[in-house]
Amino acid sequence: MTPVAASHPPSIDVPGAVRWIVRTLEENGFETWTVGGAVRDALAGRPSGDWDLATRAPPEEVRRVFRRTVPVGIDHGTIGVLARDGTLYEVTTFRKDVETFGRHAVVAFAQTLAEDLHRRDFTINAVAWHPLRRELFDPHDGAGDLERGILRTVGNPRDRFAEDYLRVLRALRFAGRFRLQVDPGTWTALGEATAHLDVLSPERVREELWKVLEGDPTPSRALELYRESGALEAVVPEVAAATSGGATRAWTRTLAVVDALPARRGALRMAALLADVGRPPIREGDPPLPPDAGPAASPIRLRGMVRSAALLTRLRHSNARVAEISALVGAGPELPGSGEADETRRRWLARVGPGRMPDLVRWAGARARIEGDPGEVARAARALRETLAAGSPLTVGDLAISGRDLIGLGLKPGPHFGVILEALLDRVLADPGANEEERLRSWALELAEAHRD
Ligand code: ATP
Ligand code: MG
Repeated sequence: MTPVAASHPPSIDVPGAVRWIVRTLEENGFETWTVGGAVRDALAGRPSGDWDLATRAPPEEVRRVFRRTVPVGIDHGTIGVLARDGTLYEVTTFRKDVETFGRHAVVAFAQTLAEDLHRRDFTINAVAWHPLRRELFDPHDGAGDLERGILRTVGNPRDRFAEDYLRVLRALRFAGRFRLQVDPGTWTALGEATAHLDVLSPERVREELWKVLEGDPTPSRALELYRESGALEAVVPEVAAATSGGATRAWTRTLAVVDALPARRGALRMAALLADVGRPPIREGDPPLPPDAGPAASPIRLRGMVRSAALLTRLRHSNARVAEISALVGAGPELPGSGEADETRRRWLARVGPGRMPDLVRWAGARARIEGDPGEVARAARALRETLAAGSPLTVGDLAISGRDLIGLGLKPGPHFGVILEALLDRVLADPGANEEERLRSWALELAEAHRD
């Protein structure tokens, strides 16, 4: 982190297009500043992402001054300005809160930057930088807090959390990402506020969790704060239950594995976070277990898969995401051993789905580096890749005959087609050489006969 002392005024580099927006608005008589996350990131010596601008110009003036604008959030005063560099920068009219409800606020336009900064959540997020005058406006000493490593709300923490409980999760995320200590008053109020996280929409909670998993190279710090504060229990009680009490080792391991997985594989990190949710025994209210274990390797993994699917659905993940992540949880980070027969590997690939192999190999490798035998995982992964490269049939779609061929054989279509094709695949997994049209046809007729009895 770059130290920023009041005695050395900071220097922040702002893209030329952002300076152009500020200059254009100021030439039209409207004071304009850069604010929020990008200023904070720059002060922390990290690459700045989205540059947000705050201006005294009302939205209709912003639209008048610039040729290419998009009304991205016109209700709360945000206009997107398309700059020459092709980037859409958000320009928001100074605002102040009029009323708040714990989930959202009624805002009104304000006349001063000070009012605008006052409604922001944490001191580190309430710093403004003027890129033309190269001046910092920091009435809550956010730069000082960043330098001292403190996360603190702007104003009374209890009130600020009650205004918007999402700030609880944002606090944990920022404290983790920037390695900040949460100021004692803020921490106490935050812990109390976790009792109200149920008012948040599941979508907002989901977005916060993903920002931790994908936006932080080391999510363990934020996740540990989730647990210490009670937020983990409030938003993902399944994870808290699987990793509390006597299972603190499971929690420590979970955190280490999540950290070891690449941030760009957010779904895999989520699966690693959910790895142990199947451990607690069946409880009342558990979702029913499906008759077919799908990719699940064991009863615990099957429960983990089903509980993960329920949890992810509750947090409004898309069906595709639910399927992807819960299948990973069901498969778990265990590969067939390098000494196993090829048939075992083919059956494993068929069960988990060949497309999931790279993620499962990554997961097994990360876990083995924390506790296990990385050399064996590397050998097991190599053997799996060889099996896959051999091109043996692994799915019903790879069989030499299809449902249409079964109709061609005079069989009446129905659900038993799936049963027949699965049975054929089972034989072909044992002996890939058996994947010949003629052989499969005659087996299919035998199986259909048996099915009729
Ligand atoms: P990042 O984009 O890295 O998640 P950020 O600080 O830019 O972090 P945004 O959600 O993009 O976060 O919001 C931009 C700014 O708006 C914040 O820096 C903060 O000043 C303000 N802000 C955002 N959400 C809230 C909130 N719930 N309460 C108060 N202020 C907020
Ligand atoms: Mg941002």
